[in-house]
Amino acid sequence: MASKEEKRRRAALVQAMVAEDTAKAIEEMPISLAHLGQLFDHLDVELENGCDHTPRITAAFLTSNGLNLEVILPWLHDQGGFCDCEILANVEESWESEISKNT
Ligand SMILES: [Zn+2]
Repeated sequence: MASKEEKRRRAALVQAMVAEDTAKAIEEMPISLAHLGQLFDHLDVELENGCDHTPRITAAFLTSNGLNLEVILPWLHDQGGFCDCEILANVEESWESEISKNT
């Protein structure tokens, strides 16, 4: 028979799975939705000159806004954003609805 302790542990595991959910993801993201929205707007403009397949524009934006690029760049990589155009193409798609809801 499952003890209370065991039930609590299982409930916590279920919660941890639900935690994959958007609210949790937003809570854990290393950049605010507002900054992320600004980054996408900035990339939109800057990428008119083409992408050199580095995250150069993103890195410059993060630095000039005092954001932690050592944490944010790997987070962008995890979402398929390895260079500026991929960040705009792959990452914006995941977040644009949240950005418009929350900003
Ligand atoms: Zn690129």
